[in-house]
Amino acid sequence: MKKLDSKADFYGDLAMKIWSNPELGYLETESSALLQKTLKDAGFSIKAGVADIPTAFVAEYGSGKPVIGIMAEFDALPGVSQKAVPFREPVVEGGAGHACGHHLFGAASVASGIATMEWMKENNIKGTLRVYGTPAEEGGGGKVYMAKAGLMDDVDAMLHWHPSASNDAGATSSLANISTKFRFYGVASHAAAAPERGKSALDGVEAMNFMVNLMREHVPMETRMHYVITRGGEAPNVVPAFAESYHYVRHPDGRKVKEIFERMVAAAEGAAKGTNTTMEYEIINGVYNLMPNETLASVMHKNLEKIGGITYTAEERKFAEDIIKTYPAGVMVSPDDASKIAPFEVNEIGLGGSTDVGDVSWLVPTAGLGTATWIPGTSAHTWQAVAAGGTSIGQKGMMVAAKTLTLTMMDIFNDPTIATKAKAELTRRRGVDFKYEALTGERKPPLDYRK
Ligand SMILES: [Zn+2]
Ligand SMILES: [Zn+2]
Repeated sequence: MKKLDSKADFYGDLAMKIWSNPELGYLETESSALLQKTLKDAGFSIKAGVADIPTAFVAEYGSGKPVIGIMAEFDALPGVSQKAVPFREPVVEGGAGHACGHHLFGAASVASGIATMEWMKENNIKGTLRVYGTPAEEGGGGKVYMAKAGLMDDVDAMLHWHPSASNDAGATSSLANISTKFRFYGVASHAAAAPERGKSALDGVEAMNFMVNLMREHVPMETRMHYVITRGGEAPNVVPAFAESYHYVRHPDGRKVKEIFERMVAAAEGAAKGTNTTMEYEIINGVYNLMPNETLASVMHKNLEKIGGITYTAEERKFAEDIIKTYPAGVMVSPDDASKIAPFEVNEIGLGGSTDVGDVSWLVPTAGLGTATWIPGTSAHTWQAVAAGGTSIGQKGMMVAAKTLTLTMMDIFNDPTIATKAKAELTRRRGVDFKYEALTGERKPPLDYRK
């Protein structure tokens, strides 16, 4: 761990290079190349452009069993550009920013991969170590296509982490999700002079959304449905010939998501019929819920406790207090909580977000952790998250993750029965006859979804 400490500045710089050049999903050319180069220089062999995704890669060291993988994300989010200051100030108005901290995610996983590799070399440890460069987590589902391509089939244990506002290594689930664009086609016409000749594609969108909103009363409790209208016509005096809405449906169980999604498609078909328009839809992304793995998570948690949380310098504390003032009173917790480790918990029903780690976790035993890279109480996807992620606070959190992941990989290499037990737990949870079918259906990676 001392070695990792001595390279904290190096990895901090690596993260900051990615933070300063935020690249959106599937367009992360420079971020991916930077992580690949760092791994290659350290002695990993690299396969780039895997799963038909130019920015996806697999870095490998060693051979034979066990095979332990660690995932590295690096995509940014649109519209949340922000300087590393405790008040709202974008670097580029409307530009992208690392509001989910994936610059830290990528850098810490690479740091941990290299530290583990060095330890394997020094101690003559048998087995295979892989770092998976997984693009487009934010809605592009990079891991789904990497999983579908069979790149993870021989992995015995997979680790990941995520920037967060607290230090937590529980075995937690998440929501399965299908996101879809529904496109309606009508006929344009003058809205006042010849409305009878027009067919409004926007009517199709509105009729569909009305039905989806009625559906809310008749779906299982934990369902989440949300949408935006991405195209609704250009001018009120032109009957819209094209309109589009973008829907998410989420639930803790992927099978339920599929059922509700089919009802949503029926609503869209009905809306097209009733408005005399035509409709087609495109699934943009589909991810499973996270499958908790108590066996692996308990090892991760023990190591997180060993490493400990984050303590602020006076300057960092001032930054934290300034960030806290940007939220309404009572939302934020104390900055002291950054030093605490959440008690171990198993949470089978995940509420909150969705992640493409979900698909991986149904295929191979998977565990992750969160560390306090953001001020306690901060929500992901906010300018406050971009800001903290660009400071020494983010970098400290990142090193807690890198060390915890390294200790956990060392534990599994030292005692491969951990992976065997984790595999048995996965089989028990998902059932012996489970067959993986991606919720994205047959679609290829949406490489242009952020263009
Ligand atoms: Zn995110
Ligand atoms: Zn994220």
